[in-house]
Amino acid sequence: MAKLPPEINATVSDDAAVKSVPEHIFRQVVDQSALAISITDEQSNILYANPAFLRTTGYSSAEILGQNQSRLSYRVTPRLVYETLWAQIKRQRPWNGLLVNKRRDGSRYLADLTISPVVNEEGNTTHYLGMHRDVTEVHRLERQVQNQKNLIESVVDSAQVAIVLLDEHERVLLDNQEYKKLIGDLGQEPAVTLLRLIRAQMDDAFEQAQSCHQNIAARVVCVEPPRRAARWFSCSISWFGEQDVGADAFYEPQQKHYLLLTIADISEFKRQQEALRINSLHALLSEQERVQGLRESLAGAVYQLEGPLNTLSAVSLMLERRLSGTPSPRSGTDSGGIFATALEDAMKKIHEALETVRSCIPEQTTETPQCVNLNEVLSDLLKLSTPRLLGANIVVEWQTDANSGSVFGQPVQLSNLFKQLIANAVEAFDEQRSSHRVLRIGCVTRADCMEVSIEDSGPGIPNELRFKVFQPFFTTKGAVQQHMGLGLAMAQDIVVRHGGTIDIDPEYRRGCRVRVQLPRAAGDDHVC
Ligand code: FAD
Repeated sequence: MAKLPPEINATVSDDAAVKSVPEHIFRQVVDQSALAISITDEQSNILYANPAFLRTTGYSSAEILGQNQSRLSYRVTPRLVYETLWAQIKRQRPWNGLLVNKRRDGSRYLADLTISPVVNEEGNTTHYLGMHRDVTEVHRLERQVQNQKNLIESVVDSAQVAIVLLDEHERVLLDNQEYKKLIGDLGQEPAVTLLRLIRAQMDDAFEQAQSCHQNIAARVVCVEPPRRAARWFSCSISWFGEQDVGADAFYEPQQKHYLLLTIADISEFKRQQEALRINSLHALLSEQERVQGLRESLAGAVYQLEGPLNTLSAVSLMLERRLSGTPSPRSGTDSGGIFATALEDAMKKIHEALETVRSCIPEQTTETPQCVNLNEVLSDLLKLSTPRLLGANIVVEWQTDANSGSVFGQPVQLSNLFKQLIANAVEAFDEQRSSHRVLRIGCVTRADCMEVSIEDSGPGIPNELRFKVFQPFFTTKGAVQQHMGLGLAMAQDIVVRHGGTIDIDPEYRRGCRVRVQLPRAAGDDHVC
C-alpha cells in the first residue's frame, strides 16, 4: 500500500491498525466522505473523484476523470497561491488554502482545499490527495460580519461625541476618535473617571440601573483636571449582553455584559450658560441697585423735607396759640391771621408734595423664598466683581466650607446684601491708599446658622460708631462720596427680614470685619 505523508501516515501506518480495518473499508470511507475527495497523478490529472466531489463541482465521473485539476480554476486565484501550493506539495508537505473554483455550470464557489502528497515505499511522490469543501457561505457570513463591523466602526468613529465600549472589568474594548482626544485631554482612562463620578452622583441608583440594564441618560458630571479649566460632560450609559462565542459556551450559552458610554463635552455650552446666568444676575442686581438708588434718593428727599416741615409745624402751633390769646382772632384782616393762614396753606402744600414724593418711592420687589446656597451667591458676586477687584489691585482670600449649608431666603435680596458689603469693603481700600489690599470672605456652617464674614484691610470703623453706621442716612464718607448712608441700613433690613444678625466685629483691628449670621434652612444637613 502506498504511503501517505508523515502527518497522515502516522495515523494509519501502524500495522496493527491497518490489519484491524479491512482494506476495502478505506475505499468506502473515501467514497462515502462528505468532503470532496480526489486523487491525482503528479501533474494533478484526476484519477479518482468521490461522489461528494462530483456533487460539489457538478461534473460526472466520465467528464472529470482524466482531466487536470486546473479545469476547476476560475482563473482569479493569484499566481502566487498556486506557486506556493506546488512548492509545498513538491516538498512532500501538505498544503491548505482557499481557491476560487468554477463548477461545470460556470458558477463559482470558494474551495477550502487541502492537498496531501502520497509517497511510495521509496520515498517518491506518486499521487496527490485533494480534499475540499465549499466554504462560500461561511466566507459570505464572515465578510458580512466584517463589513458590519467596519461600518459600525466608521460610524462610531465619525460621531461627534466620544463613545467607548467597556467589558465587565471596565476594560476598553472599542473607542472612537473623539474618545482618543479625551485621553489626550484628561489622561488615562477618562471612562473610568467619568463612571466613578456618575456612581458617586447616583449612589445606589447606579447599581440598580446596572442590575436591570436600565439605560442612564444625560448625566452631567464635572471633571477638574489639575491646573486646567473644569470640563463638563453629559454622559449616557447603555448596557447590553452578548452570547459568549467561546467553545466552552457552545452547549451552555453564557452571557457577557458590556457597558456603552457616550460622552458629550458640554463645557462650552456650560460656559455660555454660566456667562448668561452671571449677565442676567448682573442685570437684575443693576436694576435693583437703580431702584434702590431711587428709593434712597426719594427717601432722602422726604427725610430732608420733613425736618424743616416739622419746624414749620412748631412755628404754626406757636402762632396759633399766640393768636388764640388776642381779641378777634383770625379775622383775616390783621397781619397775624393772614400770616397764620398763609403758613397753613404752605404747610398743606408741602404735605401734599411730600405725599407725592412718598408715593413715588418704588415698592420693595418681592421674591419667593427658596433654599439659597450662600457659597454660590458669594461665588457669583465675586465673578461679577472680578474686573473691579482686579482694577483696584485687591487680592481676594475666600475661605469656605466644602459642604456648606443653605439658608431659606430671597436670593436676589441676599445677593444685594453681600454685594453691598463687598462694595463697602472695596471703597474702604480706596480710602486707605495702602498697597496691602486683601479682601477676606469666609462662609462657615455653624450648628444653627450660616456665618459669612467680610473683612477688609481699610481704615476700619471706630468702636463708638459700630451701631450708628447701621442707622439710615449715617455716613462716615462725607458729601464728596455722595453717599446717602443707606447701604448698611438696607443690609441690616435684609438680614433682619431673614431672621439673622449683622454686626461689626469689635475685636478686629486690621480693618473692618462685618459678620452676618443667617439661620440655616430647616431640615438642611448640607444642601436643601
Ligand atoms: P499551472 O499552475 O500553470 O500549471 C499547469 C499545470 O502544470 C498544472 O495544472 C499542473 O498539472 C502542472 N504543474 C504546475 N506546476 C507544477 C509543478 N510545480 N510540478 C508539477 N506539475 C505542475 N487548482 C484549482 O484551481 N482548483 C482546485 O480545486 C485544485 N485542486 C487541486 C488538487 C490537487 C490534488 C492538486 C495537486 C492540484 C490542484 N489544483 C487546483 C492546482 C492545479 O493543478 C493548478 O496548478 C491550478 O489550477 C492552476 O492552473 P493553471 O492552468 O494556471 O496551471
